[in-house]
Amino acid sequence: MIPLCIPNISGNEGFYLQRCVQTTFVSSVGEFVDRFESELADATGATFAVATSAGTTALHAALHHCGVGPGDHVIIPSLTFIATANAVAHCHAIPVIIDVDRDCWCLDPDLVEVYLEEKCERAPDGELKVKETGGVLKALMPVFAMGLPAEMHRLRAIADRYGLKLIADAAAAVGATFEGAPLAESGADLTVVSFNGNKLITAGGGGAILGMDFETGRALKHLTSTARVGQAYDHDVVGFNYRMTNLQAAVGVAQLERLQPFLKAKADIARRYENAFKDVPRLRPFPVRRGSVGSHWLSGVFIADASDEEMSAFRAHLLDHGIENRPFWKPMHQQTPYLSAPQYLSGVSDSVWKRVQPLPCSSHLSETDQQTVIDAVLTFFPELSQALNG
Ligand SMILES: *Cc1c(COP(=O)(O)O)cnc(C)c1O
Repeated sequence: MIPLCIPNISGNEGFYLQRCVQTTFVSSVGEFVDRFESELADATGATFAVATSAGTTALHAALHHCGVGPGDHVIIPSLTFIATANAVAHCHAIPVIIDVDRDCWCLDPDLVEVYLEEKCERAPDGELKVKETGGVLKALMPVFAMGLPAEMHRLRAIADRYGLKLIADAAAAVGATFEGAPLAESGADLTVVSFNGNKLITAGGGGAILGMDFETGRALKHLTSTARVGQAYDHDVVGFNYRMTNLQAAVGVAQLERLQPFLKAKADIARRYENAFKDVPRLRPFPVRRGSVGSHWLSGVFIADASDEEMSAFRAHLLDHGIENRPFWKPMHQQTPYLSAPQYLSGVSDSVWKRVQPLPCSSHLSETDQQTVIDAVLTFFPELSQALNG
């Protein structure tokens, strides 16, 4: 079976892990945690990086730091992994689910503007309230879907106009750039990344919060490491134990050493799929946007107008050819815990969810295996076989 997207563990991971064992620094302090934070900050243009146990815990801590609390609201895109919505719920807040735009599958700034204009109101105390619930809207949390940055200029302008925080869920976007700026400088107040096993680089599991001022970095480190003051078990706020361990960071440091070759391999894979399918108008590559470079976390095809039956048959056909595949993120407004969350939808995320098919794209996918995938896709679409034969 050709796997969809698996970790590429072929560098110094074992060597660094061995060092953790030999030195007994296996827990939440150690040289690799410090190295990982400073090298990650360098790689993403951040002033600080605070490493955490997961992307989800990083999102939760970021939202908590931005003052999101019980009954508040945070705008999130409908097309994302459940962690985006869950992090809001972990603050006892409620996500407002807004659809994504057709061009880049990220939070649609036009819909956000209309929602803020028509469905929210400024209360006498100055708070921006969602009319439907009376809850206070605190933040926008766009997702960099597939590793491609959202429309950050427009979202920044909207956030400033309405006095909202802007937190980027850039979980799979390490290495992406936004209009020439590195990831942490895309305009968000805080940027969150994940090092789960299926991401571009992994730490086994883990996450990080990136930002641009040291004060915030110190506050987040404090918050995510039990808010301890001094050495005598004094704690000044209710903190979280969300630290990354030295073991995770050892893997993360080894992975970061190869960020550039991984990014190049991922971009090459995306380009080869795009070239292979470019003569079939129904098969569209994943979004790109001028000025931004995504991480190409996932590659695959979007099959315009495919019916549910055709998608099922396509997935079964890939499996028959030894190609692992599964549907992509089911939209948040269809998820049981969020069925009653406020929502503002255009139908794009439903359409993308039904018709998108990620294809194998591990950074060490061989060209032979990729050709097997390409051939299997091409044999499924009769119109293409006709074009090739005639
Ligand atoms: C992976 C992912 C997360 C969560 O990261 P974990 O490290 O698995 O907790 C959050 N948001 C998005 C968009 C993701 O893809």
